[in-house]
Amino acid sequence: MSNKEQVLKELFPEDIMSISKGLTEGEVQFLKQLDDLLESKYRKDINQHWTEATIPEGFFEDMGKLQYFSNPLLFEGRENAKTTSQLFQFFMSYVLARFDVSLVTLLGVHQGLGHNIFLFGGSKEQVAKYVPKLQSHELRTCFALTEPDHGSDVAGGLETGAEKHGDKWIINGSKKWIGGANVADVMPVFAINKETGKPACFVVRPEQEGVDIEVLQHKIALRIVPNALITLKDVEVSEADRLQNINSFKDIAKILYSTRAGVAYMATGGIAGTLRATLDYVKQRKQFGRPISQYQLVQEKIALIQGNLAQAMAMCA
Ligand SMILES: Cc1cc2nc3c(=O)[nH]c(=O)nc-3n(C[C@H](O)[C@H](O)[C@H](O)COP(=O)(O)OP(=O)(O)OC[C@H]3O[C@@H](n4cnc5c(N)ncnc54)[C@H](O)[C@@H]3O)c2cc1C
Repeated sequence: MSNKEQVLKELFPEDIMSISKGLTEGEVQFLKQLDDLLESKYRKDINQHWTEATIPEGFFEDMGKLQYFSNPLLFEGRENAKTTSQLFQFFMSYVLARFDVSLVTLLGVHQGLGHNIFLFGGSKEQVAKYVPKLQSHELRTCFALTEPDHGSDVAGGLETGAEKHGDKWIINGSKKWIGGANVADVMPVFAINKETGKPACFVVRPEQEGVDIEVLQHKIALRIVPNALITLKDVEVSEADRLQNINSFKDIAKILYSTRAGVAYMATGGIAGTLRATLDYVKQRKQFGRPISQYQLVQEKIALIQGNLAQAMAMCA
């Protein structure tokens, strides 16, 4: 058995259709580093963080050090490619979600929606200014679209407004449920351009005058992800910080679309985490003098989880 096959067997024992075989040696090496980091540094306290609704210290920085956008390990044999492979992107989300669905969601807001709005919505200059720092995690971002009175109907219903005064914009309104806003350095905030009546996107800094960020309390799920209510009162943003290629909801929809597959990747990793935790438990829990894993009714449920997982992995890959 080759080294890659051996590592894959240990890393993805639940991958019964060997989908992970399509990963390159470098990608496997990277994913092993990621898995080792999660298990060795974050496993011990992860449930405590869930209970207390806190982010594990160093997680964002550690993920930045892995250089998951540009690590040469991820470009072996495809040196001219601009992005990492789709299969790698699936397995990276999968490994993180298998470990903890909050952590993958928190990273996803930065690396998916947040990063992509700068990448696809920014001018050449804005991309050069922000994207490398977002990719290296020197800067942290979020995605501020939803409002207290507008969720599903954001396409036609944003109330946050932006008025132009010379080369400055004045923004008023509020944004709700914004993941990671309280830890972001730059917040892309969507507001209606009062001249055109169409949405635009502005780079707002949390320390700016008129910005208030309140973390919402008592969430029942994804508790490690802080979700915030952002209130903007006469917040001033220069034209240079209006993302130049976001001029309609169609432009925003492209960004939302770019992260859709990632949601399936996370859900699939979540199934794998469920399978792992369940297997660990049924092997150690004894009833009637035997581990409950030996009872067929328990085995049937585990087989169902494994079957669902294999199907989901096949759809994602
Ligand atoms: C944990 C969490 C994290 C989030 N993170 C972010 C973030 O980082 N950035 C951000 O901008 N937003 C974020 N959101 C907001 C999220 O995008 C909205 O919750 C979502 O758009 C739905 O809006 P809503 O909650 O206001 O529900 P509503 O729009 O009020 O919908 C309520 C219910 O009505 C249903 N419904 C609505 N319209 C229709 C219709 N026409 N036909 C049939 N059913 C309908 C919906 O499916 C839903 O079941 C987050 C939300 C949560 C819960």
